Amino acid sequence: MSTTFDRPVPRPGVLDIEAYVPGKSAAAPGVKVYKLSSNETPLGASPAAIAAFGSLRDKLELYPDGASTKLREAIGTRYGLDPARIVCGSGSDELLSLITSAYIGSGDEGIFTTHGFLVYKIAIMAAGGVPVVAEEKNLITDIDAILAKVTPRTKIVYLANPNNPTGTYIPFDEVKRLHAALPKHVVLVLDAAYAEYVRRNDYASGIELVATSENVVMTRTFSKIYGLAMLRLGWCYGPVGVIDALNRIRGPFNVNGPALEAGIAALNDEEHLAKALAHNDKWLPWLTAELEKLGIGVTPSVGNFLLLHFPKVPGKTAKDADAFLSSHGLVLRAVGAYGLPDCLRLTIGPDEANLKVVATLGAFMSGNTARA
Ligand SMILES: *Cc1c(COP(=O)(O)O)cnc(C)c1O
Repeated sequence: MSTTFDRPVPRPGVLDIEAYVPGKSAAAPGVKVYKLSSNETPLGASPAAIAAFGSLRDKLELYPDGASTKLREAIGTRYGLDPARIVCGSGSDELLSLITSAYIGSGDEGIFTTHGFLVYKIAIMAAGGVPVVAEEKNLITDIDAILAKVTPRTKIVYLANPNNPTGTYIPFDEVKRLHAALPKHVVLVLDAAYAEYVRRNDYASGIELVATSENVVMTRTFSKIYGLAMLRLGWCYGPVGVIDALNRIRGPFNVNGPALEAGIAALNDEEHLAKALAHNDKWLPWLTAELEKLGIGVTPSVGNFLLLHFPKVPGKTAKDADAFLSSHGLVLRAVGAYGLPDCLRLTIGPDEANLKVVATLGAFMSGNTARA
């Protein structure tokens, strides 16, 4: 029996997906806007990357190198990796989707944590799979909870380390413990979008685990500390089998030429990277301490953003804070879609924005909420 419809109908499950809603960028009219909602770097891209991007303006008729050869070589040199085991993508979002569609089919399960990155759930459902949520412990990934969710249908475990939007991380020993206990056919995706920001001796992005196993893939991005979010550029390092699968299903020219050139230049500009890191090292602890003094709960973060917890008191809620901040041009990220309705996520911004956030939230928390 076949049913006919009077218009195309997506595959079962597609219309159950809640589309990703990016951080907003607008605030009240007439005020200077600071976008602190998408974990973008306040330092901008490396000047060398901007120049490399511009150098292609007269060559837009040409197809880019579909194999991202020079960029993979540059990444290989920078991190000591075999370029043949790297795939570049249009943002790491594309790579997460490719990995998912290569390993998850109808009814297969993908596991992520309660406040894991929303893209995992979308990718799983788009592939016809079943999203499975493992509880966190105090907003931190709980390896045992993940392992308890593994079934014969599990195909992928997604681990953002550090995680967004919580900013928390787990030590590399824990990642290794998870890997050791997973069945060998399950892909472990280590999403290390914020790896460059982490200053902890017990942290590792996962390169060592990829190198020594056949089921671990690490994804990285140029969108965060490198400041190339608009160009959409990411890469992954994985075992030969996974890399082969991704190269078969990716678009033949999935990374654009300006992104490739800018990415190489950004990788080579170590001075710019150091500046971005120093800026974060200065403001992350300062903002954490100052906001806590105001009575706002702050989850300890190792990334370039903070998860702020507001009281459930009328007039003082996250929603109230969001409205007040917006009226002062400060755009934070509401994280209700992540199951955190009492929180806002704050990206570390430029100096003046960080100072203004503390001053504005100071006024908000003390009840002095008249329009400045
Ligand atoms: C920002 C982010 C990414 C990066 O996405 P791109 O597509 O590379 O811009 C990946 N994972 C997490 C957890 C992120 O926060």
